[in-house]
Amino acid sequence: MPTYVDVHAHLTHEAFAPDRDEVIRRAADTGLEAVIVNGLEPNSNREVLRLAEQHPHVHAACGIYPVDAIAGHIDRSNWTYDFKPPTPFDVDAEIDWIDAHADRLTAVGECGLDQYWVTDQAEEQERVLSRLCEVAKKHDKPVILHSRKAELRTFEILQDLGVTKADFHCFGGKLKLARRIAEAGYYLSIPPVVERADSFQQMARTLPLDRLLTETDCPYMGPDRNARNEPANVTRGIAAMAAARDIAAEEMATAVRENCRRLFGV
Ligand SMILES: [Zn+2]
Repeated sequence: MPTYVDVHAHLTHEAFAPDRDEVIRRAADTGLEAVIVNGLEPNSNREVLRLAEQHPHVHAACGIYPVDAIAGHIDRSNWTYDFKPPTPFDVDAEIDWIDAHADRLTAVGECGLDQYWVTDQAEEQERVLSRLCEVAKKHDKPVILHSRKAELRTFEILQDLGVTKADFHCFGGKLKLARRIAEAGYYLSIPPVVERADSFQQMARTLPLDRLLTETDCPYMGPDRNARNEPANVTRGIAAMAAARDIAAEEMATAVRENCRRLFGV
């Protein structure tokens, strides 16, 4: 039976409050050998460590989400989105905390740049990303990257800093840039929404097989519209990726499993 991995899950999200343990058990029953839970800010980072301690197949990644990274600089009076602006915290103290807990981490993330939700704080986002990349390098850990509407700049920063281990999660940039990212030795993880998203199908079809990973970004990016996503759905992602590439699902699952081991060591 093939085994699976979810390298980018948000199991600390309140959407999982009612049945988190059941979701984690279902992932194991479905054949997931590794679920990497990603933190976003101080609260979820600490919760991520607790979850990884409790469940042998759950692994910890701690980071600072690029929108949280600039929480202290946002013009809150002009916040027009239908979600609350992030709560400010001491960003540099949190990076130091991640540095101090690095031996318990499989990766540093989620981190990166976002020019979709907030467009006027690029410099501060780049500063935070650079510091987190330095922490990852110091401890020889991979970084898990959010790069929405800032894909090229994220790639450039990794190259400038000499980061060699990275996964671009939910990559939304051009296919040509995805190819450059893969050629540079980085990985790209594809969510189960690939079932109905042509851009992800193209990535699954054309990128080198040894650079592809699977994720869920749960509770978001699920295969079914408006339904909560969960790690067990990576099996559907694998099936859709294999179909796009015209190979057997088992071959795709085996390649992704090996890629996860090579990058994350789990
Ligand atoms: Zn995420």
